Amino acid sequence: MDLSELQKRLSGRRIFHAYIVTGADGQDRMRAARLIANAAVCSGTGSAPCGVCRDCIKAAKGVHPDIDVLSREEKAKEHTVDSVRDLRARAGILPNEAEKAVHIIDDADLMNLQAQNAILKTLEEPPEHAVFVLLAENPLKLLPTVRSRCETVTLPPKIGATDCPEAVGAIIRAYASGDDLALVRALAPVKKLDRAGLAELISALRAKAVTSLGPAELLRLSDTLDEAEKMSGANVNAGHITGLMLGSLCHTK
Ligand SMILES: [Zn+2]
Repeated sequence: MDLSELQKRLSGRRIFHAYIVTGADGQDRMRAARLIANAAVCSGTGSAPCGVCRDCIKAAKGVHPDIDVLSREEKAKEHTVDSVRDLRARAGILPNEAEKAVHIIDDADLMNLQAQNAILKTLEEPPEHAVFVLLAENPLKLLPTVRSRCETVTLPPKIGATDCPEAVGAIIRAYASGDDLALVRALAPVKKLDRAGLAELISALRAKAVTSLGPAELLRLSDTLDEAEKMSGANVNAGHITGLMLGSLCHTK
């Protein structure tokens, strides 16, 4: 489930008491957690988060008093039972402004056993007004009893610059050989890139193309990349851009 899918699910205002967010990277997990938190505190009407109510505005600024983030103490390898007990105490208090108070635990998979048992007690009998969001790189480090009480949100893996070298080689090879099916396959991961990833991919393709393609093919690719860059600058999503690249690079029309 990616962020837009999560947003769709949250929009119906059905918020669970506890979530585990896993997959992608730490930044995306926190983004998903903040989306859940925002939907939970939203006091607007229609789909949540509405984006315009007082609560949504505070949540977007990161200053909502009912959204609480527990991070590990600096340099600490794990969450200790003390910090989780503090969080439980806070969770028992009624929200300040919203109907729900959201408690995000970053790196929840780094709670030690005692800390996990402490949070488990709260998850077993959660206060009506509390929502917990546990972020975990490795959810299997969480006790099965903790996992079973949470709705799990698994974000798709992030495809970033580090995955580019393979994609770049595959795209150029497929294009140069005229194998359209291989080109379709090679371009598939591009759909998942964000803007920065796409920009990196485009410049890597340009560099590689110069050394691997003949003049006519090089020109065609270079025109296609110019167009892709323009679209990316205009915030067109990667899916559409991939479609364009495919359309202009395929040999059979
Ligand atoms: Zn709202």
